[in-house]
Amino acid sequence: MSTHQLILKQRAELLSVLCGGGSAEPLDCVLDLLLAWEVLVWEDYLSIHVAEKALSYKVRQLLDVVYDKGEDACSLLLAAMNQVLPEEQKAGLCFGKECAEVGKNRPDTATLTLLADRPVLVRKLRDNIDGALKVLLTTGCFTIKDCDVVQLPVYTPSQQVRRLLDQVRFKGETAAKTLLQYLEQTETTRPNPEDKENHLSKKLQSSVAAQSHSLSTYGGTGHFSLDDIYTDGLLEVIDGSGETTTLGLEDVVGPVGTLNEDADTFLVSGEAGSGKSILLQRLHLLWAREALLTNTFLLFPFSCRKLNAEPRELSLKELLFLHCCWPDRGQDEVFQFILDHPNLVLFTFDGLDEFKQGFTDEERHCCPTKQVPIPVLLFNLLQGTLMKGVMKVVTSRPQAVGQSLKHYLRKEVLLKGFAPGGIDCFVRKHHSDPAMARRVLESLQANTVLLSLCHIPVFCWIVTKCHLELLGGQDGIPQTITDVYLLVLQHFFQRKSSQPQGVLGKAWLEEHLDTVLKLGQLALEGLGASCYVFSGYELQRIGLTEQDVSMGFLIYCNDLSVTDCKRYEFLHITLQCFFAALYVVLNRNSDRSVIYRLFQPQYKQLSGLSQRCLGHCIDSSVEGWESRVTETPNLQITAQFVSGLLSQRHHNLLLDCCPTAVRERKAKQVVKSLSKSMQRHFKSIPRPVEGEKKSMHAMPSFVWLIKCIYEMQDSSIAQDTMAKLDVEHLKLTYCNIGPVECTALAYVLKYLRNPVGLQLDHNSVGDVGVEQLLPCLHICHSLYLRNNNISDEGIRKLLEKGMKCERFQKIALFNNNLTDACTQHFAWLLKSKQNFLSLRLGNNNITSQGAEQLAEGLSYNQSLQFLGFWGNKIGDRGAEALADALKNSTTLIWLSLVDNGVGSAGACALAKLISQSKTLEELWLNKNSISREGVECLIEALKMNSSVKEVWLRGNNLSPEEEEELSKQESRLTF
Ligand code: ADP
Repeated sequence: MSTHQLILKQRAELLSVLCGGGSAEPLDCVLDLLLAWEVLVWEDYLSIHVAEKALSYKVRQLLDVVYDKGEDACSLLLAAMNQVLPEEQKAGLCFGKECAEVGKNRPDTATLTLLADRPVLVRKLRDNIDGALKVLLTTGCFTIKDCDVVQLPVYTPSQQVRRLLDQVRFKGETAAKTLLQYLEQTETTRPNPEDKENHLSKKLQSSVAAQSHSLSTYGGTGHFSLDDIYTDGLLEVIDGSGETTTLGLEDVVGPVGTLNEDADTFLVSGEAGSGKSILLQRLHLLWAREALLTNTFLLFPFSCRKLNAEPRELSLKELLFLHCCWPDRGQDEVFQFILDHPNLVLFTFDGLDEFKQGFTDEERHCCPTKQVPIPVLLFNLLQGTLMKGVMKVVTSRPQAVGQSLKHYLRKEVLLKGFAPGGIDCFVRKHHSDPAMARRVLESLQANTVLLSLCHIPVFCWIVTKCHLELLGGQDGIPQTITDVYLLVLQHFFQRKSSQPQGVLGKAWLEEHLDTVLKLGQLALEGLGASCYVFSGYELQRIGLTEQDVSMGFLIYCNDLSVTDCKRYEFLHITLQCFFAALYVVLNRNSDRSVIYRLFQPQYKQLSGLSQRCLGHCIDSSVEGWESRVTETPNLQITAQFVSGLLSQRHHNLLLDCCPTAVRERKAKQVVKSLSKSMQRHFKSIPRPVEGEKKSMHAMPSFVWLIKCIYEMQDSSIAQDTMAKLDVEHLKLTYCNIGPVECTALAYVLKYLRNPVGLQLDHNSVGDVGVEQLLPCLHICHSLYLRNNNISDEGIRKLLEKGMKCERFQKIALFNNNLTDACTQHFAWLLKSKQNFLSLRLGNNNITSQGAEQLAEGLSYNQSLQFLGFWGNKIGDRGAEALADALKNSTTLIWLSLVDNGVGSAGACALAKLISQSKTLEELWLNKNSISREGVECLIEALKMNSSVKEVWLRGNNLSPEEEEELSKQESRLTF
């Protein structure tokens, strides 16, 4: 349909949305755009915008003027409305095909620039009207009367700006130039910082660059610059309506996904090892090179783990200058500059989860010069009570982000490990020898469990680093994260081994037991006290020698703060957890209750011992530190490693390090603790409401417990645990489930006694995760995988197995990366599985070709009841193919082709389906381009059909009059 016709047919609706609510703003915004795009000339604008006329008059006038201007003008009007109207008001309207960008040369006069930039200027000037008027007044462009006309209180700020712009235009070129100059000064140019500020900026840039240019995890073990190794991570943001968008690094502080315009804190959250610190490091480096965040003049990087060690009360100024960068000159002026220009400053805080105290907003503090405890300072910065307007980027594990902090977040970006293709890219960057890279990648492809682990960068780093041990394959291929960390342990000892070939004997762990136990003690005490940075004194106290340190598990802290003493940290937090676990398992004198406490959901006082020893780490003024839960994720990882180390698989390795009886006692304790915690979990399942399925919504610790069971690699434990779970539906939505979690889930769930519906919507399962789930597919009657980055290849593998699973009957794949290439697999499934009930493929990229391929299988199927295609692009051809294939179905109840570009031809084909079907109850055809002719076909068909209850037709090509008339003919139609 031409846009001319669209305007005519939808005249009533267009009128109603532009007048809806009585606000003139939508109309004004549309007019701004049309002026800027030169659809309207000034005279048109004046003829529409007649002050004393009603809004509906103006809208009608606009529609008439544009209609008279022809097809192009009409399509631009629809485009403008599409841009301006909120989503909910657009439902049911058709805006025609997207029109080409309005490309123009830059106008050559200031007056024309005001028109061309009008939409932007309205936004920019809204908060600046007073300033602009002042300038216009002092330059003599405006009189007081002009100012009064603009500032009439009946006008909204946007209307005042439009009046101002109109008035400036009326005054001529000089006034227009003055206004543009004023805007340039306030908007685009940075304040011209004095020398001292410039000096600090340069100094910060060079120290940030020096600090961020190489990777600390590679310290002492081969050097990598960040440029050489950095591989993009998968960044996602969930907007207010639950939609997920993938982001680039440059969008982390951009507008996409903003939830709270008033907040200045951007959170990057991700599990341990997902690459949060490296991402921040990359951001720092790019800023220092002026390649990103170019509007940021001063960037102050902080590490929360290092802030933990700051016992003093500090003022904001001291925090900045002591912990980041000391200005060589004029501290007071520099600080004043920071206070005056918060918009030019960025603070980053790495690892909020490692900060001793959980976030609270109880104590308000807004004075930049008053000394307060570090937590008060940090939390007030995050809230924006202190230094409002300074952008803050914070990283944290998700568990540490409570509701009270969420309140102050501008947005939350989720970091989900490597992006697809990331593993490949990382391995190639890591190995300069392409043949070696290829071998490592081949070995990963051959072992999908390991491949799934590699989605988490820290595991990928270890696996790549330990490639020789891996390819040597002496001890079997790693299956669990404990295996992977044992590999790295072995690797580091091997590196320092005096043996000529660097080959370690069988008893390598025993040989290094002393070092392991000392590092383990340091690690465990640290975890108990939320302490991740250790002084030389602490190392000494535990008896760690230079030689122990030289093994490479501990590295020097590298930071910008002014401090004299050397400090150490573990290569990565997960390595600290691993050593803590080794200590729990190998220490003969350990407290018997330590394992029970480790597996308890509410961790308290893990070690009174740590309080005693690492007294400096515990700030006695921080009340209730023992009951805080931010260390829980570390203790959970430790528990996972303890499970893995006590697995029968590592019996031989531990044989000489720990008496068998002790080891077995500990293993029993773990099994008992796991079983008890699971029981507690299962007991929390509410009784099913009558008529509803018995369903369990997993709590966060469920996935962790499953992962611990997986680490034990003992099927009888998995079997015993699952025997007690009796649910029909298992819901694990938004649970951070990636490929690693899928491996563990499948390992355990395959022992369920009764079939379940497994709901994994909104996770990051991906193709590798799908493959990991296959071992439990036989027990799933339904699989929900909405929003999971799954592509055709994942589907191919899934369905290959699914075809053989008798119970597998439903699948939901809304919002993945599926294309036509997946439909042939579904066609196969439908052909061969005559008990399959429900297939939902909404919001993917399937076209008519895919629909035709699917139809091939559908025509042989006599079981499918629900078929969902919402938001694909199957068009008339696809609809015809599906309708034809479904004509003889004796089972189909529900069909959705919403938003698929279906026109009347498709509708007429569907009419044939209606006329033959005895089972179809609902047909959804909203947001298509069906016109009267198509609907008439449907009506004819409905006359012969009694099963259909509803046909939804909102948002098609019909005028309100037609809709009214047609719905009178057939009450089952909904417009
Ligand atoms: P987190 O802060 O989320 O715990 P890190 O940023 O410390 O994780 O990453 C752990 C290790 O994983 C790094 O030391 C590095 O070896 C590797 N790594 C993480 N992200 C990347 C990346 N984007 N590119 C290359 N390697 C990475």
